[in-house]
Amino acid sequence: MPLCEHFETGVAVDDPETVCLACVAIGSTWHHLRQCLNCGQTLCCDNSPNRHATGHYLSDGHPMIRSAQPGEDWRWCYRDDLLFIPGAEGYEVAEE
Ligand SMILES: [Zn+2]
Ligand SMILES: [Zn+2]
Ligand SMILES: [Zn+2]
Repeated sequence: MPLCEHFETGVAVDDPETVCLACVAIGSTWHHLRQCLNCGQTLCCDNSPNRHATGHYLSDGHPMIRSAQPGEDWRWCYRDDLLFIPGAEGYEVAEE
């Protein structure tokens, strides 16, 4: 299966933050961190109370995120519901 049409977006974002700034702004906490690969914002995951990464996709339409957790290396496309993991020749679509 080929990578989706959104995969190549935002490959040049800076390193992620170590906090969800949207949570910090409202005095909340988060579980895990994700980074938008279109604009570089670091946001919190769907196991977090505020789900800022998904909220960012819904409000701004940026489809690609990656994990911002140390030691994790995967990407996710909201638009296509696809998970990408490192393979032998770059990223590949993870099997269900
Ligand atoms: Zn896609
Ligand atoms: Zn958050
Ligand atoms: Zn974004």
